[in-house]
Parts: sequence; C-alpha cells; structure tokens
Amino acid sequence: MSSPVDPTSEALNEAVQAALATVIDPELRKPITELGMVDSVSVSADGRVSLAVLLTIAGCPLKDTITADAGKALSAVPGVTAVDVELKVMDQAQRDALKEQLRGPGGQRGIPFNEAGSLTKVFAVASGKGGVGKSSVTVNLACALAAQGLRVGIVDADVYGFSVPGLMGITQAPTRVDDMILPPVAYGVKVISIGMFVTGNQPVAWRGPMLHRALEQFLTDVYFGDLDALFLDLPPGTGDIAISVAQLLPKAEILVVTTPQAAAADVAERAGAIATQTGQKIAGVVENMSYLEMPDGGRMELFGSGGGAVLASRLAGMVGTDVPLLGQIPLDIQLREGGDAGVPIVLGQPATPAAEALAGIAGQLAARPRGLAGMHLGVQPR
Ligand code: ADP
Repeated sequence: MSSPVDPTSEALNEAVQAALATVIDPELRKPITELGMVDSVSVSADGRVSLAVLLTIAGCPLKDTITADAGKALSAVPGVTAVDVELKVMDQAQRDALKEQLRGPGGQRGIPFNEAGSLTKVFAVASGKGGVGKSSVTVNLACALAAQGLRVGIVDADVYGFSVPGLMGITQAPTRVDDMILPPVAYGVKVISIGMFVTGNQPVAWRGPMLHRALEQFLTDVYFGDLDALFLDLPPGTGDIAISVAQLLPKAEILVVTTPQAAAADVAERAGAIATQTGQKIAGVVENMSYLEMPDGGRMELFGSGGGAVLASRLAGMVGTDVPLLGQIPLDIQLREGGDAGVPIVLGQPATPAAEALAGIAGQLAARPRGLAGMHLGVQPR
C-alpha cells in the first residue's frame, strides 16, 4: 500500500520553504515569505521549483536581485534540479496588506521614532560651517554601526549640499509603493536624501516651511522599519532645518563636527548652542582633520589644535551636562578617496588611523543605552 504523502517530496517542500525564508527583500530587509511576496511555489516530481514572486510595484528596480537571490537560495537545496521564477505585481489589496503589516494597524502615519516604544537612537549631525567633514563623518559612523550588525538609517537633510548618496555609492532611486517610500540600501544602511528628489544637480531653493515639510515627509512616508540608529545629516550652520529637527524629532541628540581650528570651533558652538534653546541633548563633539600623519610618524597640525576639546567644554558649560569629545579623526587622503568612490573608509580601509578613529566614535555611540525615555516598561504591581 502506498503512503498518501511521499515523504521525500514533503521534506523537499519543507527545505524549499526554508530556503525561501532566507531570501530578503533588498529594500524592506525582511524575508519575502513574511512580506506576502511569495504568490505560489511548487516542486515537481523531478525537482523543478516553480516560484511566483509578487513585486510591490511594476518595474521594481530590484526585481533582478530578488530573482537572482531566490534562484540561488533554491538551487542550493539538495534535490532541486531547476528553478523557474515568475514575477508578478501585487494588486491594491495585497499592497494595502503589506503597508499595514509594515506600518501597523491602520497604516500609522506619524513619525515612528517619536513613539513611546521606539528604541531608535537619533543623532542629528551638525557643524558650524561646510567642508569640515560632517557628511563624511555621518556616513562612516552609520556604516561602522551597520557593520556591527545594527539597523541603521540616514536622512540626508543637507539640502544645499546633499552628498550622502555619492559618499555611499548610491545611484538607485527610492521605490514608491503608493504613499510609502522605500529607501535605497547601501552597506546595510537605509538612505534617503533630498538629492533623490531633484533632477540632475539642481540646487534646492526651498524656504523654511518647504524644508520643514520635506523633512516631515521623509520621517513619516519613508519606511525605515525598526532602526537602532538614525543619523540626520544637517546643513551647516544654525538654519531652519535644525529648528525643524528639534520640533519633529525632539529626542534627537546633536553630534557636533568641527575642525581643531579655534575659529571653526567658535562657529560650531553656535550650531551646538541651538540645543540650549530646543532642550535637546548633545551627544558629543567629533573633531575632524585633527592632524596629518607624516612619513616619519610625526603629526602635522594643519588646522591648529584643541578646537574639539574647547568646543566640548564650552558646550558642556552651556547645557550644564557632560559633553564628551568623542574622537579626533586625522586627515587621510584615503578618507577623501573612499568618499569619492562611494566606499566609506571604515569599510574600504578599516586599518587606517582615520577609520579606526571613526569606528571608535561609532563604538561609543553604540554603547550608549538605547532610549528608554517615555517608554512603557510594562511593570505591574505584585
Ligand atoms: P561637510 O559635510 O562638512 O561639508 P564633507 O564630508 O563633504 O564635509 O567633506 C568635505 C571634503 O573634505 C570632502 O572632499 C571629504 O572627502 C574631505 N574630508 C573630510 N574629512 C577628511 C579627512 N579626515 N581627511 C581627508 N579628507 C577629508
């Protein structure tokens, strides 16, 4: 008497399901099996797998990646002889279900990082003036944390000098799923930038209210998922965006980047001083371009010395809490070259002193407890 279920094929089916669960949607960073993206899967008697994948939108830019990843995962299953992947597109009901799954019931439309239960550490990276390395520091800190396995996002809010996509080698545009925007991912970091919404290299001539609205839209419409850390790359100075950040993300901590130059520290002090008006915390000071290491091992202090420490102590006096100097990053041609090539130095040349200094700063940020302020801990009286 033959068994109604062929045990081999049942085991094969299970292995195929397990393999599919390892296929991660490149934008949503979740298994396609959890996202309702597997329309159907079947295994024929000769081990041929037919898979139908539902894309969020027609012409999804990452369809080739999904097809390749699914093909690779399934081909590795013993007993699978061939893989056919058919691509379909979600209908509105399926997209609505996906959005609800991602955003929660009713498709929440607030800023998720402000929710009481949010554990995301938000760092607003500020500087007094341009060119001190604020964006380079932002991307390297983000990549260093992502490389440690943390879930990280960047909002490039430097409207006048958006440079994060270039520094991360991102050319892909965000994907729009109705009113939800899926940010491109590079080195495990989800990135959204004003630069992705303007054509060519046009300047953004937006005034305060429009900037506020753009930032608000980034924070509400962009699906970042559950993040451990979110970095905002602010425009230099003490402009409207800094005030908007304080209003939209009150628990964002400010990270001030400066050079060792006394004059630069003076200007940076004004950027940091915003915190006293907005009541935000200052996470610390990062001194960049601190020195150039000479072939004989000596250090040439091109921009003077001490600016970071002076700034940290002045800010501490101003806000009345400790403000640490988190690190001093030397000048390094490879840091600039990595930025030009879209490969941050912490990933491309991790053994350089500049990369080590950046990784050290990232380590201090990661070691800080995730925000529990306002979080309901579910403690019950006995
Ligand atoms: P900002 O965001 O403050 O305008 P950027 O991060 O764009 O500054 O840096 C300005 C320029 O300086 C870039 O070309 C960058 O590669 C370079 N740069 C920044 N930090 C360093 C460093 N430590 N060593 C060498 N070049 C650096």
